[in-house]
Amino acid sequence: MKKLLILLLVIYPFILSAQQSVKFEDLGSKPLYVLDGKIIESLKSVNSYNLETVQIFKGKEATEKYGEAAKNGVIIMTSKPSTSVPSRESLDPRVTEVWEIKAPVITPGKNAGDAPSDAIVLFDGKDLSKWSSSSGANPSWELKDGAVTVVKGSGEIKTKQEFGDIQLHIEWRSPSAGEGEGQNRGNSGIFFQGLYELQVLDSYENQTYSNGQAGSIYKQHIPLVNASRKPGEWQVYDVVFTAPRFSETSGRTIAPAYITVFHNGVIIQNHVPIAGSTQYKGLPVYKVHGKGPIALQDHGTPVSYRNIWVREL
Ligand code: MG
Repeated sequence: MKKLLILLLVIYPFILSAQQSVKFEDLGSKPLYVLDGKIIESLKSVNSYNLETVQIFKGKEATEKYGEAAKNGVIIMTSKPSTSVPSRESLDPRVTEVWEIKAPVITPGKNAGDAPSDAIVLFDGKDLSKWSSSSGANPSWELKDGAVTVVKGSGEIKTKQEFGDIQLHIEWRSPSAGEGEGQNRGNSGIFFQGLYELQVLDSYENQTYSNGQAGSIYKQHIPLVNASRKPGEWQVYDVVFTAPRFSETSGRTIAPAYITVFHNGVIIQNHVPIAGSTQYKGLPVYKVHGKGPIALQDHGTPVSYRNIWVREL
């Protein structure tokens, strides 16, 4: 009864404007209730404050619409369209589950630094068949004891295969003698796409310009920390390289290259943008290019490399 009174208060303005100016009390004791096109037993299911329209019919007009059941009149109500946002608790978690797309299954390396099953092994310590000199000839670097070592004056070596976005694992060692100072001590370098140098240098207690030390993106980015081991010890770079993107029509640089580097397990470059190809003098520049090789620098000191593998991304 209380609910009926509340409903009467709420629908009173509707009653005033309803067809034929029918008054609610004219309808008799048992009018038919219709909410959103459905006959309802009582007003219990009606949210009085959520009604948008209320129409009242009686007599012939009512029975023409709803038959004998409406002999005492009919109240036709419609609800306001729902504008409320469903609560998070009411949502179905399955809607946001992805099952159709599967991540490829690979076998990771047995030990840290071992190549996973989907890696391209560029150098496993046995041969340099995946490499050439800059002229395309067989490399003349020294292959010994599972490592390959720079032969001064022989020039860089580069992969025969060209790459875009990659994950690279590479291990390197500066000469144990620790001879020379600054840039002349255990200097080499890893050039991504043959253009962008990640510096290799003996930076253990060896001062040089900071953006030229081990782990720098040469003359562009200083490493976050100096995680260098002593000369003569093997060191590791794990790298994620994202190639630059160029417009096919205008040749403009759409996105620079990005590089992330871990040095002996420590992050030293955190997704830094590369400003252009490495330059010894002047500012870096971009020129449009496609995929490119990984090149290892001959800077005149016998730096060694081993366990080199890459994953195309
Ligand atoms: Mg270098």
